[in-house]
Amino acid sequence: MKAFAYFAAVASMTASAYAQSRVQPQTVVYEGARLIIGDGSAALENGTFVVRNGHITAIGNSGAIRAPGGATRVNLTGKTVMPAMINVHVHIGYEGYTSWGAQNYTAQNVLDHLQREAFYGTAATLSVGSSPTDASIQFQRDQQAGRFPAASRFFFMPGYAPPNGGPDEVLRAATTALHVINEVSTAQEARASVRRMHDKGIKSVKIWVDDRRGIYPKMTPEVYTAIIDEAHRHRMMVHAHATTLPDQKAVVRAGADVLVHLVQNEKLDDEYLALLREKKPYWATVIGLGDPTAVCGHDPFFEQALPAKVIASIRANLERRPLTANCAPPSPNASAREAILAYNFPRMIEAGARIVLGTDTGIEPGHTFGSGEHVELARWVQLGLTPSQAITAATKRPAELMGLADTGTLAVGKRADFIVLDANPLENILNTRRISSVYLNGVEFDRAALLTLWKRADGSP
Ligand SMILES: [Zn+2]
Repeated sequence: MKAFAYFAAVASMTASAYAQSRVQPQTVVYEGARLIIGDGSAALENGTFVVRNGHITAIGNSGAIRAPGGATRVNLTGKTVMPAMINVHVHIGYEGYTSWGAQNYTAQNVLDHLQREAFYGTAATLSVGSSPTDASIQFQRDQQAGRFPAASRFFFMPGYAPPNGGPDEVLRAATTALHVINEVSTAQEARASVRRMHDKGIKSVKIWVDDRRGIYPKMTPEVYTAIIDEAHRHRMMVHAHATTLPDQKAVVRAGADVLVHLVQNEKLDDEYLALLREKKPYWATVIGLGDPTAVCGHDPFFEQALPAKVIASIRANLERRPLTANCAPPSPNASAREAILAYNFPRMIEAGARIVLGTDTGIEPGHTFGSGEHVELARWVQLGLTPSQAITAATKRPAELMGLADTGTLAVGKRADFIVLDANPLENILNTRRISSVYLNGVEFDRAALLTLWKRADGSP
């Protein structure tokens, strides 16, 4: 019954949200806000921009932009506008908020997660290695054809692992049921598979190199070198999951384009920093996942999108396990790990690692899609980035990494994908959480309707 009520609600909401997702033909002028462009340049303290057919057609200081005749005017005095974010590392589709796993993987659930991403200000979401290829290609086509209500734009890439290797056990169980991970043991198999992906129009792939402290088979250098080489021959990018210093060195040396995760157990050495200087890989840090301050700290920003039962179960989970949503007391080695992070983070950046937003949300139960982005930004600033640098790493740079020329900054010709904030994140990065509204392709995203729906998903009033 509950499930039925939920889907009935989705269906009724869909009709109005669908109408909304259509681009409105009229011209709208947004006046008087502080505009953060997203490219690191100084904010316009009193800015105006014009949106037509979902795209920005003019932007500048308020005095310099004239509203076209007949345009609708929206006064944003006192607000701050920043580009919507782009998340290059999530695992979408398995979270059901009352259950977790392959049984939840439907287009409807993928859409739900993308709506959660949009709710929190993310306009494009990249699911990495854990989405079934053919179903994802179909989903992308349907979304691009406008068959779904408004949501974050869906992107995905296939993942490679040795037989019985790959993601951690929870995600492995789910992806194995759907035969998602491409298991390869030889360079030849790997090359053939990458070519097949290229034939399907795939632009990037993920490799899991890690042996999870010796419990998994490790991807051999022969195999990952072949994957990287074959991908590059076809102008595809390779995202590499590598968590130890030797593994990160090895994949960067082999030419991986995007590093995912941190080296948490030792300080970086000069050899690695020299490699980073030479190769300048993108780097999705994924620091914030499982950060217990969110739900454990009773913060309504995180709680608002979660059913009450989920919040209660996270709070009741006092078992400290990496990746899980728990409220266990901090681990005894937390401060040692934090000290290594404080040492490594600025050195990675200084050496030229190009930091991009990635959260790993959805890899285990209980993480809220979309809110993790805001945790990640705050952690970066804590570790030394300026708020402006953090915003660029969440907007312009992931757009550049993904080859999305139409979004990522507030500029003429870009899609009007933006967040209206009640306070200035350049003063305090936590102000990215003060979301007044989110616009996708020039249309305001109906946050209120979705909130009501999500809160009801577990039968709570
Ligand atoms: Zn991941």
